[in-house]
Amino acid sequence: MKSISCRDIGTDCDFVATGMTEDEVMQQVGEHGKQIHGMTDADFTPEMMAKAKAAMKDA
Ligand SMILES: [Zn+2]
Repeated sequence: MKSISCRDIGTDCDFVATGMTEDEVMQQVGEHGKQIHGMTDADFTPEMMAKAKAAMKDA
């Protein structure tokens, strides 16, 4: 399992995304970001994605 907390990518939020693969986690982060933080596809820049992947932990 892999996981990442919203806090790890610079927000003040306790949401944690978990999944079997990096892609699954990133998909959850994407949905959460859009629903809760009002982000759009334009906010998911390559830099942001790299930061999120770097912050990802094996759970
Ligand atoms: Zn969040």
